Amino acid sequence: LEFVNGSKIFKKNGQETVALEKTNLSIEEGKFVSIIGPSGCGKSTLFNMIAGLLQPTTGQILLDGKNIVGKSGQVGYMLQKDLLLPWRTIVSNIILGMELRGVPKKEAEGRALPLMKKYGLGGFEYHYPNELSGGMRQRAALLRTLLYDQDVILLDEPFGALDAQTRLMMQTWLLQIWGDFKKTVLFVTHDIDEAIYLSDEIYVLSPRPGRLKEIVPVHLPRP
Ligand code: ADP
Ligand code: ADP
Repeated sequence: LEFVNGSKIFKKNGQETVALEKTNLSIEEGKFVSIIGPSGCGKSTLFNMIAGLLQPTTGQILLDGKNIVGKSGQVGYMLQKDLLLPWRTIVSNIILGMELRGVPKKEAEGRALPLMKKYGLGGFEYHYPNELSGGMRQRAALLRTLLYDQDVILLDEPFGALDAQTRLMMQTWLLQIWGDFKKTVLFVTHDIDEAIYLSDEIYVLSPRPGRLKEIVPVHLPRP
């Protein structure tokens, strides 16, 4: 996944906000990459552009060498607010993506049920989202995102609303499931410890008042 010379300028009532400028991002297949930076530095804007929900002002976004600017559905996207449908059971939430792609319900469930057992959701298959803890709901939401067939997954503060202890458990869990699914993950977090623990690479998105915003990659050995 590459973002080449990307920028985003919002124009509203004659006012310009530079959300991102001269941003270059290059992520190898299968890596776990975190993006950190203070509030308002452009993290959501970046993700929304990669997800095809926002048009960059300049720049190309390449996936496998193909320009995906303005195209939605090319990458998976999960937000802090898990957005599980409250009227569907956990398993039917998890197979939503497969169903939307036309996989028959029985087949989709046949794939989801063993994975739910394996990844700590056994026993909750036919519960409703409001019967689960926050951590369990995030497991379900992440499993749903991973079961769409995109190769690249964007995770925007998926553990941001969890307590510290659940968060540590979820980090270990995420590394396990990520290792099994072998997808490229782009992860936004405010927690530097979390980024260090999880990532192959960290990009720091830093605002310079009124000036450029740069991304500095730091290469890390995995623990
Ligand atoms: P982060 O996710 O890092 O908190 P955002 O991407 O939400 O940052 O915002 C980056 C900058 O762009 C901020 O200055 C924000 O106010 C501005 N911004 C974001 N969305 C819009 C919009 N729709 N219209 C105008 N300005 C926006
Ligand atoms: P310290 O020495 O400061 O107590 P640790 O090495 O215990 O720090 O952990 C630093 C950070 O790394 C933790 O806050 C957590 O985010 C992450 N971390 C370390 N070990 C684990 C683990 N087993 N599971 C999940 N996260 C971990």
